[in-house]
Parts: sequence; C-alpha cells; structure tokens
Amino acid sequence: MKPLADGTLPPKGSAYHVALTQFEQAAAVLSLDEGMADFLRHPKRELTVNFPVTLDDGSIRMFTGYRVHHNTVRGPTKGGIRFHPKVDLNEVRALAMWMTWKCAVVNIPYGGAKGGVIVEPGELSTAELRRLTRRFATEISIIMSPDSDIPAPDVNTNAQTMAWFMDTYSMHKGYSVPAVVTGKPVAIGGSLGRVDATGRGVMVTTREALKLKGRSFKDVAVAVQGFGNVGSYAAYLMANEGAKIVAVSDVSGGIANPQGLDLPALKDYVAKNKFVKGFVGADAITNAELLAYSCDVLAPCALENQITAQNADKIQAWLVAEGANGPTTPEADKILEDKGIFLIPDILCNAGGVTASYFEWVQDLQSFFWTEDEINARLERIMAEAFQAVMAEVEKRRVGHRVAAQVLAIGRVAEAATLRGIYP
Ligand code: NAD
Repeated sequence: MKPLADGTLPPKGSAYHVALTQFEQAAAVLSLDEGMADFLRHPKRELTVNFPVTLDDGSIRMFTGYRVHHNTVRGPTKGGIRFHPKVDLNEVRALAMWMTWKCAVVNIPYGGAKGGVIVEPGELSTAELRRLTRRFATEISIIMSPDSDIPAPDVNTNAQTMAWFMDTYSMHKGYSVPAVVTGKPVAIGGSLGRVDATGRGVMVTTREALKLKGRSFKDVAVAVQGFGNVGSYAAYLMANEGAKIVAVSDVSGGIANPQGLDLPALKDYVAKNKFVKGFVGADAITNAELLAYSCDVLAPCALENQITAQNADKIQAWLVAEGANGPTTPEADKILEDKGIFLIPDILCNAGGVTASYFEWVQDLQSFFWTEDEINARLERIMAEAFQAVMAEVEKRRVGHRVAAQVLAIGRVAEAATLRGIYP
C-alpha cells in the first residue's frame, strides 16, 4: 500500500487500512490514473478538537473529538457522529471515505464525512452528554453548515443528540437551521421514515438478493448481530416480510431460537431492559456463536472488524448483509468469496440511512414535508436501483460484490472530479 502524503501508513488491522485496501482493489479494476487515485485516497480535511465539559459535580473534564471530510467533488459532505471510547482518527478517516463511496453508490449528491468523540456515553448523565454535544457541535461548527457538511447520528448518538446539535448551531446563527443535521426528531424538521431507514435499506437489498436467487423472506432464517438502530429495524422489517429471525445479539451477548424469536415481545423487552440478554423463549449464546449460527442470512449490524480470518470459515449463512460499516476484514472477504457466500457490501446494504437523510435535508431546505409512504417508496426505489447497478458491475467486470460496489462508486466520484478539474 502506498504511504499517504504525510509519509504515514495506517496501522494494519485498522479500519482505515481496510478502507484503503478495498480502495486499491477497486482503483486497479478501474485502471484509475495514479494521480487521481492518490487524490481520492486522501481525506480532504481533518479537524481534531480538544474541548472541556463541566461535569455535574462542577469539575472540568477534557474530551477529544474529530470531524473528517473525505471528498466534496459531488456535493457537501455527509456522515454520522459517533460517541465511543474506541473512536480514533484512523477509524473516522475510514468511515468518512466509506461515506463518500456510499453516497455515490446510491447516486445522491454528497461527499463523505464522519465525526466522533472519544467517550463512554454510558458513564455520563444526560445533562453532561448534552453539554458535551453542544460544545462539540460548537467546536466543529467552523466546518459544518447545511451547504458544506451535514452530520447525522451513528453509534451511541440518536435523534436527541441531533436535536442538541441543531439547536446549538441555530443559537449561534440567531435563527433555526434544521438542515444543518439529519436524523432529528420529526417535531423539529426531522423526516418521517428516517429512524428505520437504514434497517429498511438492509431489508430491501436483502429482498433483492433473495429474489435474484429465486428465494423469498418466507423461506429464510436470519441472524442479526447488533440490536441497535440498524439491527433492530432490519430484524423487525425482515420479520414483517415473513423471515424467521433465529438469533440476535448486542454488546450484552446473544439469544437464539431455531424456531424463530418473538420479535414484538423482544421489542417490548429491549425497550424495558435495554439489552437482549435474559429474554425468555430463547437460549443465551455468545456473539462468536451468533456469527456461526445455522441460518440463511447473517446481518452484521454492530461494529467494524467482526468477520475476520479467524471466524469467517465458521459462517453457515449463504448470504451476508452488512448493516454495519466495515464489519468484514479483507482477509475474511476472500474466505467468504471462496465459500461462495453472496455478499451485500456495507456501502450498498446500509445506504438507506444516508438516503433518507438526503430526503430530510431536501425537505428542510424547502420547508416542504413528504408523507411516510412517499419517503419509503422513494427509498425502496433508490435502494433497489443501486442493488441492480452493483449487480450489473459484477456481471460486466467479473469481480466480487464488494469490489463491484466500490468500482461503481469510485468511478462516479472520479468522473465528477475529472469533469470539475483539479483547481486551480
Ligand atoms: P447503535 O448504537 O444504535 O447500535 C449498535 C448495536 O451494536 C447495539 O445493539 C450494541 O449493543 C451492539 N454492539 C456493540 N458492540 C458490540 C459487540 N462487540 N458485539 C455485538 N454487538 C455489539 O448503532 P447503529 O446506529 O445501529 O449502528 C450500527 C452500525 O451501523 C455501525 O457500524 C454504524 O456505523 C452503521 N450504520 C448506521 C447507520 C444509522 O443510520 N444509524 C447508517 C449506516 C451505517
């Protein structure tokens, strides 16, 4: 792998190393000009902020956060904000790069960004989290606006976090600016259909893949790793289509029942108990056992680097739908491909969220709101078209599904960059 312009290489095993490895494969298939490839492999700008937050006991604690814009040739940057103790700059760079490709796969006019704060949010009170969010929003507001960079929720952030972001930015401006973030509550300019959109995209792309294989949700068993925003809605929506959800997990561990889990009861249980652990009518399993569980469809919807060279061979599913970003390492990719597993790669599979975010931004800019049916119908059309476009690349280039999705995306970004030209 070529070093970056500052002479560094991301550490092997980091999400950024994975993202760059994937990029090199796709750039080679596209025979990209070396200078253009070098431009696309670099983030455009990176902001690191160290900022103080007053805790409830009156003491001051410092936090570190990042906002990275990967590429802006197709439009303003878009990407989530993550609160997690393991956030680091290389992870944020990788996630920003994947956002650029994701927006291009579904052909929406954005570049990619990502942000994060190194924090265990469970250790803070709601008031502390609110102050942290407001201060972080202020710190990154120098590179954030509805025209330039529009954040959204990600791991451990949600509609409330976005409400605080939007309010903070609006207070500085002196008027309400709902279009500065997406994933807001509907009451303050959020979009209907946003909360379940990523899970819906996972469901739609899985449905298209099943159709291609002459199957339907009615005859498949599904295991879902991660039961947060993406995993829970993916599970509910696939179950609504007739799928049997046989196993789910979260950070507390997993639960399984080969006869199928009672999803409505599980929804109530998690609303009360926060985690899936202890749900009656299911056996307790570990996250490692979930990945190897006997099923047709495995949907990793938690974090990066879950399917690795150590466990890929144990996967029994014949279809893997990547709800999470970067859940599979390049070494594991090769093993899945050799096993003939049908992969719906992350930048396609989980693009429903950013697509609905795009709808939210468009509605906010126009102050004109659509019905939930309109939103879901538009989302389904875009996701199904993107799936077909990726499959067309698979046929045309005779490459694996991940490379095909990246080739489609990187080709679109390279075309826009070429048309615009390198400034000055
Ligand atoms: P979330 O915080 O709502 O949920 C994450 C889930 O993963 C939780 O259930 C958590 O308990 C579980 N988890 C954490 N560590 C785990 C582990 N080691 N093993 C098993 N489960 C674990 O986050 P989310 O928004 O659902 O995001 C999940 C993934 O989807 C991330 O990779 C995120 O980047 C990606 N994603 C999210 C969106 C979105 O709209 N929220 C869109 C695209 C991609």
